[in-house]
Amino acid sequence: MSLNCEMTMDLIALYHDGLASASTKKAVAEHLKHCPQCRESYAQYRRIYRMPKSGSMHRPIQEGATEQEYRRLAARMRQKRLLAAAGFFAYVCGSLCLTAIMLLKSRRETETSFFDFQKNKFYL
Ligand SMILES: [Zn+2]
Repeated sequence: MSLNCEMTMDLIALYHDGLASASTKKAVAEHLKHCPQCRESYAQYRRIYRMPKSGSMHRPIQEGATEQEYRRLAARMRQKRLLAAAGFFAYVCGSLCLTAIMLLKSRRETETSFFDFQKNKFYL
């Protein structure tokens, strides 16, 4: 598949965001290699849209990041904090439960072992 400049520019956004199909990517890359005009346009496009590559979650924020990107990062941080809080809560609940169980168990143990004065017998 060979592309003309117009088609390449139509596809450049998809190509840049990694959303184009393999054959389209190849065709765009091929065209960019041979067409300085489109290469320059693509460089310009990249300067304007520094969008994250799709699929990379841990990409650091770059200079000139879009507001959407900051929002996404903020949401991710919020999520992390929430997860940490949930984890801590689960830990506290778990240890409380464990303590309660152990207390109940030890209480039952002391309750079941007693001396019966009427029968004059010691129960364990
Ligand atoms: Zn071109």
